[in-house]
Amino acid sequence: MADDTASMPRFPGGGRFRRLGPALAKRFGERVRKVTLRGGFGCPNRDGRVGTGGCIFCSELALLPISGPIDGPIERQMEAGLDLARRRVGAEKIIAYFQDNTATDGPVDELSDLYRTAISHPRVVALSVGTRPDWIADEVYHLLAKLAEIKPVYLELGLQSADDDTLRALNRNHTVADFERAVEQAHQHGLEVIAHIILDLPGEEKNHRLKTAACLNRNRVEGVKIHNLHVLDGTPLAKTYREGMIEISSLDGYVQMTADFICRLDPGMIIHRLTGEGPASLMLAPEWGRDKRRIRSEIEKALEAGDSWQGKRAGSNRGV
Ligand code: SF4
Repeated sequence: MADDTASMPRFPGGGRFRRLGPALAKRFGERVRKVTLRGGFGCPNRDGRVGTGGCIFCSELALLPISGPIDGPIERQMEAGLDLARRRVGAEKIIAYFQDNTATDGPVDELSDLYRTAISHPRVVALSVGTRPDWIADEVYHLLAKLAEIKPVYLELGLQSADDDTLRALNRNHTVADFERAVEQAHQHGLEVIAHIILDLPGEEKNHRLKTAACLNRNRVEGVKIHNLHVLDGTPLAKTYREGMIEISSLDGYVQMTADFICRLDPGMIIHRLTGEGPASLMLAPEWGRDKRRIRSEIEKALEAGDSWQGKRAGSNRGV
């Protein structure tokens, strides 16, 4: 854990925090793009194995890839994704990302086929698997550990908040302790962890965010995806929103809380995202959430204005 840093570290690619693009380019020696693949996984928080109704913010439709291929054999999805990566950003290499629902849900031999097909492609530099922290069987950890001997494997764990009351309110049906156990297991199996969090959750205040930052630092996660709350049509959250029962943060509010959160994070952690992403057709609020470029730029300006950077106050939330 870093103490408050007196001077700003030199982050790859410049800027005031550790960005994903330059970090990947440094690690893999060239531009790399993440390609979302659809493995047809289920969600135990919808079908009763863990809970029912799903997390209040989650839409099954939003878990489909936003651009690119959305179905068919993994080989075909990857070829289409590779084609898109080359055309859009000139990337010849990709990270194969299994994202839909809970991507560790299924018989281990079926997961093995899917993951191995993806990781063995010559243009795939790493595998990424998104899941719940309480839904990774021992044999899946072993499988991922074997794959990590071939290429890097990222385990993307949904945490959202390091507060158990908030997790209950979100109908997550797992605890912060589940997350901490999953991170420990992941590290013991040679996997790198990317935590997904939502910063502007209803009912949360600054002390909750400090707790979340402290949890990520303490557990030494390698990366974080920071999202703003999206209200997506068809979700339980949409109903609450229409009834006027929740307040959605303003752009300025989100920018300020994100800038503050970044300076609480360990400077070695890679920041993969600064905003959420959801299909425009489903998004009810916030209106400002549609303009990701503007959100990113406002956050950068806020860091600049406050002479802040990632890690500057990482030590000040210790023990929160
Ligand atoms: S966020 Fe994950 S665990 Fe929650 S309902 Fe969606 S797929 Fe299921």
